[in-house]
Amino acid sequence: MRGITVTGIPEAITKCISDNQRFVLLTHIHPDGDALGSMFGLADVLESLGKEVFCFVEEPVSQLYAFLPGASRASCDLDALHDFARQVQDKTAVIALDSGDDNRLGKYKDELLAITSLMVIDHHKSHKEYGVCRWVEPSRSSTGEMVYELAMALGVEISYSCAFHLYVAICTDTGSFRFDSTHPRTFEIAAKLLEAGVNPAEISCKIYDNYSVVRLKLLQLVLATLTLYAADQIACIHVTPDMFVASGAAAQDIEGFIDYPRSLQTVKVAVFIKEVQPGNISVSLRAKGECDVAEIAKMFNGGGHRNAAGFRFADKNLAEVRTEVLSVLSQDLGVQLDKTVG
Ligand code: 5GP
Ligand code: MN
Repeated sequence: MRGITVTGIPEAITKCISDNQRFVLLTHIHPDGDALGSMFGLADVLESLGKEVFCFVEEPVSQLYAFLPGASRASCDLDALHDFARQVQDKTAVIALDSGDDNRLGKYKDELLAITSLMVIDHHKSHKEYGVCRWVEPSRSSTGEMVYELAMALGVEISYSCAFHLYVAICTDTGSFRFDSTHPRTFEIAAKLLEAGVNPAEISCKIYDNYSVVRLKLLQLVLATLTLYAADQIACIHVTPDMFVASGAAAQDIEGFIDYPRSLQTVKVAVFIKEVQPGNISVSLRAKGECDVAEIAKMFNGGGHRNAAGFRFADKNLAEVRTEVLSVLSQDLGVQLDKTVG
């Protein structure tokens, strides 16, 4: 792979920001709090510097994140993006945030990569190199944390909107400061964001107490699928298209469901097999302790972090996926795959 990967803010990124006037910001498909928070937070930083910004998303921002001040600025309009980039082509830069793999840029990947040289800011352990210049720090809690460091390097004062976005990014990717990725620096940055006006109770409420009744109905159906294996060390749940129909819930409503099997005391790895559209299966893994699920996800062509990773299948049914994933997991943990509950 050509291009360079740097730990510590690369000069090429700060130079790219000072040399350009227009910025197209991208993030990964099905964006989560860090993807959107870091993208909108960087948009705020760039606008503080007098730059113009276009935030592109493949699909409209999920209702779960509609509370983000930047949500209304995200555009799915590829023609508008090209118009924006064309006007001052020699002064336009493209930056991808929180996307550990160019395939995660979605179905317009090739068009997006063709706009101009791509800068990448990411913190995935499984990062697969792409773009011309990459700033990749897997030890960082979130891409939001990296955007904060970038703002400091650029001498930008963090606005309330920017602080809000970066706090959501950090809070969601650290599971509210619970995961291993939470470092002293994470708390220092969070403190600075509070000083910029962020109210943590208000944001927690918007992230976690923001759900619909149909989501809870779907959760009931999904939790009924809970199966435990290997002396309760592996927990597996799944969702099928008929559960969405029965509950009236939407695809976005499953965010956070995997936290329930993960929360069991004995569980080392939680698995959530998601068939949202018939025949299209994705898998989320969450780990506690020693198991590195990013490595497991890589075996299935996916990726992520040590404690949170995912991958997808297009050509297998749910039962086949479960058998394959559980077999790999039991080998990795060195346990027998006896069903204990479910
Ligand atoms: P989630 O389980 O919440 O979808 O994702 C957990 C982590 O794994 C996130 O950091 C996400 O970016 C990553 N991830 C999820 N699915 C995939 C995938 O199909 N490919 C890659 N490379 N990473 C994934
Ligand atoms: Mn992230």
